[in-house]
Parts: sequence; C-alpha cells; structure tokens
Amino acid sequence: MKKRYQVVIVGGGPVGVALAVELGRRGLSCVLAERRREPQRIPKGQNLTQRSVEHFYFWGVLDALRAARILPPDYPMSGIVAYRDLNNEYWAAPPLREIVNPYYFQNNERLPQYQAECVLRARLKQLDNVEARFGWVAEAIDQKADGVEVTIAEDGAAGRETIQSDYAVGCDGAHSLVREQAGIARGGGDFEQLMVLALFRSRELHEGLKRFPPRSTYRVIHPALNGYWQFFGRVDVGESWFFHSPVPANTTRDNFDFHALLQKAAGFPFTCDFDYVGFWDLKIAVAETYQAGRIFIAGDAAHSHPPYGAYGLNNGLDDVVNLGWKLAARLKGWGSVALLNSYNEERRPIFKETAEDFVEAGIRRDREFLRRYSPDRDRAEF
Ligand SMILES: Cc1cc2nc3c(=O)[nH]c(=O)nc-3n(C[C@H](O)[C@H](O)[C@H](O)COP(=O)(O)OP(=O)(O)OC[C@H]3O[C@@H](n4cnc5c(N)ncnc54)[C@H](O)[C@@H]3O)c2cc1C
Repeated sequence: MKKRYQVVIVGGGPVGVALAVELGRRGLSCVLAERRREPQRIPKGQNLTQRSVEHFYFWGVLDALRAARILPPDYPMSGIVAYRDLNNEYWAAPPLREIVNPYYFQNNERLPQYQAECVLRARLKQLDNVEARFGWVAEAIDQKADGVEVTIAEDGAAGRETIQSDYAVGCDGAHSLVREQAGIARGGGDFEQLMVLALFRSRELHEGLKRFPPRSTYRVIHPALNGYWQFFGRVDVGESWFFHSPVPANTTRDNFDFHALLQKAAGFPFTCDFDYVGFWDLKIAVAETYQAGRIFIAGDAAHSHPPYGAYGLNNGLDDVVNLGWKLAARLKGWGSVALLNSYNEERRPIFKETAEDFVEAGIRRDREFLRRYSPDRDRAEF
C-alpha cells in the first residue's frame, strides 16, 4: 500500500525547510518537495530578528547559525542613513534592531539567507521522519474530504508521484501554486515601482566608505526617490555587496547602466564586478486567508512586501512556528479544529500590521520628510 504522510510541504526555501524541521522535531511524518537542489546564492533575507534566532535555538541549530555568519563576530549589524548619496555631509548612524536585544533570550543575527538555509537543510538530514525531495516540483494539489493529494515531478527527469497526506502547506513563495490551486485570492498594494537587485564585488567601495564607523548597511534617501531607498548591504567585509534601488519601469539587464547607478548612489567613482542583476516589483501582497480547509500557506506564499525593515523571512519563520505546534496538536489528537484555525486568525493580522504600520508608513514618512525638509531651503531646520 502507498505510504500516506501526515503533512506534505510544497517549497523548501527557508520557510518550507524550517517548517519541515519544526514538524520533524515533533515526530510527524512529512514530505517536502523543493524545485531547487541547492539554495539560491542570493543573500536576500539577511537580518534575523531576536525572535527568529530563538527559533533556531529551539530547532537545535543556534551554534551552527552563529558559525555560518560571514561578517566578523562583533561587526555591527546596523547601518548608515545618508541624504542624496554616501558622500554627503548629511548622514546618521542610528541604532537599529540591536537596541531591543536585552528584551529577548537571543541577540539578533546577520547572515546571507542561503547560509541560514544550509543550516536548516543540514538539520533536516537528521530527522528520519521527514523525506526531503530536493529537485522535485509540485504540479497539482487536490483537496479531498479526508486529506490532500499533491502531484510532484522530478525536475529534468522522469519521476512522477502523487503523494497523499492529511494536510498540505504551501511554502512555495510569492508565485505560490498551492495558493492559486487552493483558490486563495490575494489583496494588497502595488507601488508600481520596479526595483533592481544587484550583487557585486568592489574593494574600492569598501575603501570609499571608511569615513563612516563600521556598519553593515548603507541606505540612501533622496528627494527624487519618492520615499523609496537605495540600499547597499555588505555580504562580507571588504569585497562583496548587494544593492537594491528603484529603476525606471522599462529597465532590463541590457538597456541600463547599473554601474553608473551604483556610483551615483555612492557619490564617488569606484570599479566593480557584477555577479548578478535581477528585478522585482515593489508591492505588498497578502492572501485573503492563510487556510483553505486542509491546505495552509506560509511565508512569501501568504504575504510579501518590500525588504524595507527586513520582515519577510522573519515573518515566515514566525508563521511556521505558530502553525507547527498546532498541526502536531491536531494530528496527535489533542488539538481542536479551532486551534488549527487560529493560525490564520493570529498570523494574518500580524502581517497586515507589519505592512501598514511599518513598511508603508516608513515609506510615507521618508517621502513626507524629504518633501518637507531640505538643506538647500533651510539647513538649520533640516
Ligand atoms: C533584496 C531582498 C532583501 C531581503 N532582506 C530581508 C531581510 O533582511 N530580512 C527578512 O526577513 N526578509 C528579507 N527579504 C525577504 C525574504 O528573502 C523572503 O521573505 C524569503 O525568501 C521568503 O522565504 P519563503 O521560503 O517563504 O519563500 P522563497 O524564498 O521564495 O522560497 C520558496 C521556494 O519554493 C520553491 N517552489 C516554488 N514553487 C514550487 C513548486 N511548484 N514545487 C516545488 N518547489 C517550489 C522555490 O524554488 C523556492 O525555493 C529580502 C528579500 C529581498 C528580495
């Protein structure tokens, strides 16, 4: 007879693998299907909150997470904010997330997302009750009265299977197949702003920023940017960087001078080698519900927003911790349906609050500040 699992997880980015670890530790039988064999080498979610680090502690991989950090151990995780460009006389080095460290059991952390993903994938290997199918793509999801069927196919090979389980969770990112096939609509706001994400190497940029105290990030605010940012982040100290910025709507890899954009944001010339250039649309999107019967969604499948404030991955990790113990409670027979439903009731408002009160409000605040104050008009007031 065909094996039946308790939970099938579609998508094994950081959120899907974290859910597999959470459920595996609780003794549930799971299968995880992830298209990519290896994590994508784009740093993305680097800034882990204190709460996220606490999750890694309970998953048994705190030391591995700290060891996977690329920046030196005591290198500050906060950043510089500069007006117009990084060569400007107007700048500040405000404290960021580290100011709330004393309120938590663990301090926050900074490392490229793929490093954290490798830590989670290694933990997954220790959990015999979780079957990880890296290199498998989910093609269809079908909900029955007593369970869920997910059809998966081996990427680039002939393997094809239909998996049966009690519950399914879509952790398959912003373009979630699970969300779509479960018929869950998404609402939200589109800022209609195209953004570029560039990875590059430049020692000269590192040298040029030595006038500042050591910092991990450099955010440029500019009256012409309408409240959006240009943002440099260190991947290591001295060479590797990521950068994101608004760009004109019709920008492609081939019709735009990204090196000139970087130098303009820095305010000084420097040489660099690009490793990656990609784009994303600045928008806030939230699913109308995080649950449709026996199907749940978590992470970017449920919510996505610009990386302003670094909430995306952290929110996703909080989702899986909330959902994980409730699924286990239900499957072990002591949790009610109402308990399971509380996942949606608790997590969705958190995202709405994050999107509206932090991300959107922050963009609006910067926009209003830059309209209201200018050193050219009134330096003292600025
Ligand atoms: C420039 C940038 C900076 C960021 N900085 C931060 C930050 O500092 N802090 C923070 O918290 N967040 C940050 N984020 C957001 C963070 O990267 C995302 O929130 C995070 O990747 C979400 O993880 P996820 O696992 O939900 O989705 P994803 O990372 O998108 O993973 C989804 C996975 O599902 C797989 N998949 C999709 N469809 C299928 C299918 N049909 N079958 C099998 N597999 C499938 C994909 O291959 C992928 O691996 C940043 C994002 C960007 C772009």
